[in-house]
This record gives sequence, structure tokens and C-alpha cells, in this order.
Amino acid sequence: MADPELVDVVVIGLGVGGEEVAGRLAEAGLTVVGVERDLVGGECPYWGCVPSKMMIRAANAIAEARRVDGLAGTAEVRPDWAPVARRIREEATDTWDDTVAVERFTGKGGRFVRGSARLDGPGRVRVGERVFQARHGIVLGTGTRPSVPPVDGLADTPYWTNRQAIEVEELPESLLVLGGGAIGLELAQVFARFGVRVTVVEALDRVLAVEEPEASEVAEAALRADGVEIHTGVRAERVSHDGRGFTLHGAGGAEFTAERLLVVTGRRAHLDELGLDTVGVDAGRRYLAVDDRLHVTEGIWAVGDVTGEGAFTHVAMYQAGIVVADVLDHARRADGGADPSGTASATGGASGAVGAASGGSAGAVPRADYRALPRVTFTDPEVGAVGLTERQARERGVNVQVGLARVPSSARGWIHKAGNEGFVKLVADADQGVLIGATSVGPAGGEVLSGLVVAVHAAVPLARLRQMIYAYPTFHRAIEDALRDMS
Ligand SMILES: Cc1cc2nc3c(=O)[nH]c(=O)nc-3n(C[C@H](O)[C@H](O)[C@H](O)COP(=O)(O)OP(=O)(O)OC[C@H]3O[C@@H](n4cnc5c(N)ncnc54)[C@H](O)[C@@H]3O)c2cc1C
Repeated sequence: MADPELVDVVVIGLGVGGEEVAGRLAEAGLTVVGVERDLVGGECPYWGCVPSKMMIRAANAIAEARRVDGLAGTAEVRPDWAPVARRIREEATDTWDDTVAVERFTGKGGRFVRGSARLDGPGRVRVGERVFQARHGIVLGTGTRPSVPPVDGLADTPYWTNRQAIEVEELPESLLVLGGGAIGLELAQVFARFGVRVTVVEALDRVLAVEEPEASEVAEAALRADGVEIHTGVRAERVSHDGRGFTLHGAGGAEFTAERLLVVTGRRAHLDELGLDTVGVDAGRRYLAVDDRLHVTEGIWAVGDVTGEGAFTHVAMYQAGIVVADVLDHARRADGGADPSGTASATGGASGAVGAASGGSAGAVPRADYRALPRVTFTDPEVGAVGLTERQARERGVNVQVGLARVPSSARGWIHKAGNEGFVKLVADADQGVLIGATSVGPAGGEVLSGLVVAVHAAVPLARLRQMIYAYPTFHRAIEDALRDMS
């Protein structure tokens, strides 16, 4: 076995979270090894947020053009997937090549290692034949992979996950989407707007089941208007592929056929591959259990989707800030308050960076708080939400007060006309007099959400929100209408 190479920190998995942590720790002057087995940047830039939002941008342009009739004359729309595929290939992903991302990391002073890493005892990481001993810590940012349900026959078919759906160059004639969550609905609407015959099959009794029921209704109606067939309450029992197309058999005898099948039924972490047993951590869980500083166990932190705290890029980035501050704080304490890397003179003062990043004292390391975690489904209309739904609040025994205002009834919604579906729903804790949750569905639902996130995050009193001035005629004026509905 090779002698271990002594470094300050090893980051396993350079997705959104891992890359951010590794880059910032390297910039602070630590010796950081970042290990990635696939592409630096992870799912978001190559097969997730960025390319899917490019697809949505294009699909929404088509939908807007189709709304010209009745508003501004006539427009003939002939959708063409080629520019979308080209944009994803050339602008978003460099044809799924991470050279630029690797250079971004090494340019910050990080050492990059391509390969699959696993823990190999306390402080040790193995990548093939190489072993690294981390002085200050190990950060796990290994993300998730698609969770494919154990449906009879499915594993033997050439089904798509998000990766094939994002990489597609030529659209199929028809598509079955198994899973009516955020990713399923976003992609279903995109493909339908480009002329694909799309059918969504969802086991639960409504799409977007984690959101308010009113949001599910609006999203379902919008997709149906785009020609998407939606079947809820249908559990997939068997899938077959005859060389040309798929047949999905649902419970109760339902049968669906299409040229392609996209499986988007959630994601899961693969903890069993990480060697967690060598550091006494249970690998049998669904996600890595972390505390509010993202600690897994002594000397090990986790960041991003692998923590199960919400599978969003903004969560990974938020957590990364906490991990960076905490690792630097630990490093400084371990070194008796001195520059953790011992390279201050060589780097022109790394300890200054350390002090700034950690807030200068141990007590200043922030703690993770997900109360005001925003989430947006980028369908048209967008479904934005923050905090608790009405049902979640009631289940927690909160004295709940609810207000709802429909976007088409607002001045801006009425002016907007075609494509104006949506609403703002507020969930308040009546005893505390603050919002604890909100949903904003509409043409700019994700943007309208920002004010609501501030309100939940800062626990702005309802009385203050009622006294605010809301610009006329914006979509966010529906917040004022919903507040009025509450009183
Ligand atoms: C279609 C789609 C659309 C999405 N849209 C949005 C959106 O609009 N907004 C949003 O906020 N989020 C969105 N997400 C979610 C977002 O992509 C994830 O939350 C984000 O990528 C999580 O980052 P991460 O760093 O935790 O993990 P990942 O991005 O999954 O990165 C983990 C990395 O670790 C590597 N790795 C794993 N194990 C090892 C190992 N043992 N050794 C070395 N390397 C390893 C993997 O190869 C991977 O590159 C979307 C996801 C999908 C699939």
C-alpha cells in the first residue's frame, strides 16, 4: 500500500456543494484534495438545473408565441428541438466536458483527483491506489442518483432518467413520464410544448404532492392545457419494452404505451459505497445524518443532497458556507489559533481569510436553519413555496390562519390575460402573528416568492406586512390581497 499523502482537507464529490467547499477552503490557504469520479460541478450544470431551465426557457417562448393570438395578432410557431439541444451541448455543458470546472478549482489552489473515493478509517480517504490522510477533515458531497422503483421488468428496459432526457438530440413521438413531482412535471411540459405526446403516471392522488393541493390543481390544469395526459393514483406494476416502445401496466388494469419512458420517481444517496463503516457511521440510512453545522462525526462533514435536507442547489450552497466556516474554525483551533495551513507567508496571509470566513470566532460559525427553505417548480405557471404547507402546520398543532388570492383576480393577472393562472396562499401562526409558510403560483411565481421568503425567514409580523406598500400593478400585489383574505 502506498504511504498516505498528508493534506489538510479531502472533499469527496465535487458537485455544487463539494466544489464550493473545496474551492473556498483552497482559497483560504488549506491544502485541499478534491475527488470527483464524474464531472466537476455535478448534476446541476450538466443534467439538472441549468440545462433543464434552458429547455424550459425555450418551451415557454413557444407557449408565449402561441398566446399572441387574441393579444397581439397572429403568430405561427414551428417548434424545433435542434437549437435547444445545441445550446445545452455547446453553452451549458461543453458537450459534457468539465475541463473549465477543473481549472476553476485548481486555479483556486485545489489539487484535483479524478476517481471514486471511499473512507478508509479515521481521517483517511482511498482513491484507487492512492491514500490521503486529512489533518483537518473530510467533506462528503456525494449527492444522489435517480431512485428507480422496483417495478417488475423495468430494470431490463432502456428507460430514461433525467440524464437521457437532458441529452436527447431528437425528440421521441411519445413519452411516458413515471413520477409527477417537480422534475417530472417540468420535463413533461417542455416535451409536450415541443409536440411530443406526453403521459404522466403518478402513484399518489395528485401531482406535486408535497405542495399545497391548490398548487397541484393549477399545475395539473396547466399541463393538461398543453396536451399532457395525467393519471394520478396509478401505481406502476409492470413495464415491458418490445424493441420499439414501452408498455406500462398500472394497478387495476390501466395500460399506457409510448416510444420512451422517463423515470423520475425521486433520488437517493448511495451511502453503502462510501466506506462509512470504517469510521463508525451507519450506512444503512437513506441520507447522512448531520447536525446543524453539517457534522457527520468527528472530523467529517457533509454537504448538499447527501444530507437529505432538501435536494436543491441553493441548499447545497447554503450548507457549503457553514461547512467552510466550521472547517476553518476547527483548523484554527487545532493549530492553536494560528493560520491552519501554515502557509500564511507563502500565500500572503491565509489566516486573514480564515478569520473572515469563520467570522473571526468560534461562536460566529452559523448554524443551519431550514425554516425558510424556498423551493420552485419551474412549470408554467411557476410554483414557488416556502416553509410549511397548511396541512403540515395543522399537523404540528399550530393555530393556523390562511389567506388566498387568485392571480387572475388581481389587476396584473387580469391585464396579463392568457397564461395568468395562479394564486398566493399564506399560512400564518395566528398566535405568533407571523407567516410560517407561503405558496406563490403564477407567471412569475418563483420571483414573487422572494418577498415571502423574507417574511418567513425574518418572522416579519403580519401587521407590518399589512402596512407595506406593494407596487401597482405587480404580480406580488396578490400578497396584499391574500393578507386581506386572512383578516
Ligand atoms: C433534472 C433536474 C433539475 C433540477 N433543477 C433544479 C433547480 O432548478 N433548482 C435547484 O435548486 N436544484 C435543482 N436540481 C437539484 C440539484 O441538481 C441538486 O440539488 C444539486 O446538484 C446537489 O448538489 P450536490 O453537490 O449535493 O450533489 P451532485 O450535484 O449530485 O454532485 C455530487 C457529485 O459527487 C460525485 N461522487 C459521488 N460519489 C463519489 C465518490 N465516491 N467519489 C468521487 N466522487 C463522487 C458525483 O459524481 C457527483 O458529481 C435539479 C436536479 C435535477 C436532476
